[in-house]
Amino acid sequence: MSLQNPVFIPGPTNMPESLRRACDLPTLDHRSSLFKDILHPARDGVKRVLKSATAEVFIFPSTGTGGWETGITNTLSPGDTVLAARNGMFSQKWIDMCQRHGLTVEIVDSAWGEGIDIARFEEILTADSAHKFKAVLATHSETATGVRSDIAGVRRAMDAAGHPALLFVDGVSSIGSMPFEFDGWGVDVAVTGSQKGFMLPAGLGIAAFSPKAMGAAKTGGLPRTYFDIHDMAKGYAANAYPYTPAVGLLNGLKLASAMLLEEGLDNVFARHTRIATGIRAAVEAWGLDLCAARPALYSDTVSAIRTPEGFDAARIVSHASERYGVAFGAGLGQVAGKVFRIGHLGMLTDVMALSGIATAEMVMVDLGLDIRLGSGVAAAQEVYRNTAAQMALAAE
Ligand SMILES: *Cc1c(COP(=O)(O)O)cnc(C)c1O
Repeated sequence: MSLQNPVFIPGPTNMPESLRRACDLPTLDHRSSLFKDILHPARDGVKRVLKSATAEVFIFPSTGTGGWETGITNTLSPGDTVLAARNGMFSQKWIDMCQRHGLTVEIVDSAWGEGIDIARFEEILTADSAHKFKAVLATHSETATGVRSDIAGVRRAMDAAGHPALLFVDGVSSIGSMPFEFDGWGVDVAVTGSQKGFMLPAGLGIAAFSPKAMGAAKTGGLPRTYFDIHDMAKGYAANAYPYTPAVGLLNGLKLASAMLLEEGLDNVFARHTRIATGIRAAVEAWGLDLCAARPALYSDTVSAIRTPEGFDAARIVSHASERYGVAFGAGLGQVAGKVFRIGHLGMLTDVMALSGIATAEMVMVDLGLDIRLGSGVAAAQEVYRNTAAQMALAAE
């Protein structure tokens, strides 16, 4: 593996130099007055990236998985039932976590490559007149399959059913890269980590709570200590943590959210759409299919690409790493060996994306797949040239 090449995995993502430097702080006493100027802007930046006026943002020395656990253990109680969609490895792991906490999970399966079955959610919630479901779990971008689900649609289904459950959204591979409307969609708990859209090293678990989720956290709760949001809130009120914070990463997060807001969230999202469109044009030129079933389901942060029947897709990942020093994502769970993944989120540019497409072509040709060198690159070049020309026109 080369440290010069960009990575094309859907997290951890490539780090801008400025963010690496922001994380590299001398030791700073987190009880000193310096810390508040890192802590509060970092939390406020996340809140703005989430487009929320009211969310309480909690940041743990952890990862996205810790964000899931924060959401569950602070708001739900022993014996509670939740409704969860399963359409890939990440939604499956979240369900597994709920089950290990003793929650009852009603699972709505969709084929891997499909999105959340919103019509089924609405039926189930409408039938639940006793309101046994305390939360609905939805994964916005299923990183295993490259599928985007319609979170606004999940909220509409809950409202149409008149159901009071909390809406939990896994936004680990969407927040900061794809449109995400915490307030607009009525999200109650949103979860992410530092190493995807925020372009930082792994090490922070982020969970945002709506006022309604904060209310549920007053009365409910599963056993927890490290992830207790009340302890954390008390710490924040005193410009501190209940334990030792990851100061360097928090300083990175302060700058990362400022960078995203400075570029403009709409511009950040448009950049991700453009880069993803180029990658998808390449996949089409190769004559391959995406795991995501339809364009409406395409995630703008990761593409899972099906390889021909009988070919082990894992060979692409290992060959790319060994021969060219480039990282692609492997297939996970049900689609292991059937897909490889190109992560295209974070600080990527068109030019970086072209290098990943070119590498994937060399690898596939080396491995005997029927692909013409340059075909995907040319298709993506057309996308990037045309959008660059349109942007230049718009700027005139
Ligand atoms: C990466 C990811 C996770 C897990 O996050 P960690 O930071 O690795 O704990 C959860 N959900 C989704 C959708 C992800 O992409």
